[in-house]
Amino acid sequence: MKAEILCVGTELLLGDIINTNAAYIARELAAIGIDVYYQTVVGDNDGRLKDSLTLAFSRADVVVMTGGLGPTYDDLTKETVAEYFHKEMVMDTASLGSIEGFFKRLKRPMTENNRKQAMMPEGATIFPNSNGTAPGLAVSENGKTAILLPGPPSEMQPMFQSSVLPYLMGFSDKVLISHNVRVFGMGESRVEDALHDLMKNSTNPTIAPYAKEGEVTLRVTASADTKEKCEEMIAPVIGRIREVLGQYIYGIDVPNLQTAAVTELIKKKVTVATAESCTGGLVSERITQVPGASEIFGCGICSYANEIKHRVLGVSKETLAKHGAVSEQTAEEMARGVRKLSGADIGVSTTGIAGPGGGTPEKPVGLVYIGIDSEKLTTVLRLNINYHKADERMYIRHMTAQNVFK
Ligand code: ATP
Ligand code: MG
Repeated sequence: MKAEILCVGTELLLGDIINTNAAYIARELAAIGIDVYYQTVVGDNDGRLKDSLTLAFSRADVVVMTGGLGPTYDDLTKETVAEYFHKEMVMDTASLGSIEGFFKRLKRPMTENNRKQAMMPEGATIFPNSNGTAPGLAVSENGKTAILLPGPPSEMQPMFQSSVLPYLMGFSDKVLISHNVRVFGMGESRVEDALHDLMKNSTNPTIAPYAKEGEVTLRVTASADTKEKCEEMIAPVIGRIREVLGQYIYGIDVPNLQTAAVTELIKKKVTVATAESCTGGLVSERITQVPGASEIFGCGICSYANEIKHRVLGVSKETLAKHGAVSEQTAEEMARGVRKLSGADIGVSTTGIAGPGGGTPEKPVGLVYIGIDSEKLTTVLRLNINYHKADERMYIRHMTAQNVFK
């Protein structure tokens, strides 16, 4: 099966937004073995959209489109596709019901043009939108299929996972199973380098890497006659990935680092308390994101000022004067202090220079200490976080919190 990606939106042509939808869809299609030879961007113009669609269908069986499903006059993807397939636009009552429900939940009035979003080409397959109003849809005839998805990635991506993948798999008699290997502490290029041979030769199962906010996820996908067969094919591949990446893997199919860490602590019945300086509560915030965190988390102290580090946590005045707030010694005393204060099994601390100011040659921006104190072990982790993002301060704080959970 050959597919093409056609993204609609004048703001894409003008460079106002980046076409992340095309990148996302391309990766997803590659992961299930569908070839994509062309990607096109076209503005909100029905003539040019129709031309692009005609050209795309001259080369491909499936055209996946995003954008232009909204309620406004410039949203004309559905109408153009209906015209291409010679279909009437009809009211889809189920879609109308869910759009009405969406507005009711938000307690917002529904305007007349929102009804337009429930008008569908006759005979279309509808993909519900649980994160917005515009449903997605597919129109299929004579071996040609158009898949229409909303523009906002927060709506498009979940719809792709829950509706489009199963729809595409419906074209074959195979089932598709994926597992996500979560990696932290190793950049995408290093991961790809380490797994080069494995990835180069991966067709079924496929291995697709995704990098986001200092983490890499490897999605391993197999297609076979049965679910069991898929699992059988995936297991040795994950085994090989484990051999190569070892301790950098923090979990399979877990949503994030904090979930992996907190789940482990709950399992082992180990309690924890935090004393945070540069992260200003981020670590506590992440711990409490995980359901069941109350079983292992008693308290978090945001000890930003030296005075509080001393008075509340018992960091000695000598330590603060001699080594400074951002130092191994302070991190250690903070961790010990919060452990004693709370009675937790483990005390964790963060102190560092988040920037943009405050760096010196000896203590540059990005220097961070993470202290860990327990009955058996006291240790301080020193990190130099290389910031390469516009918002270095947020990045350093984010990466510090990530490293705590590692
Ligand atoms: P809406 O109901 O929000 O109008 P829509 O399906 O009509 O959705 P558009 O109006 O084309 O979609 O785009 C809405 C927003 O979605 C854009 O302003 C942009 O933020 C985002 N968006 C659209 N297309 C893309 C794309 N290809 N890549 C990334 N983001 C996109
Ligand atoms: Mg729109």
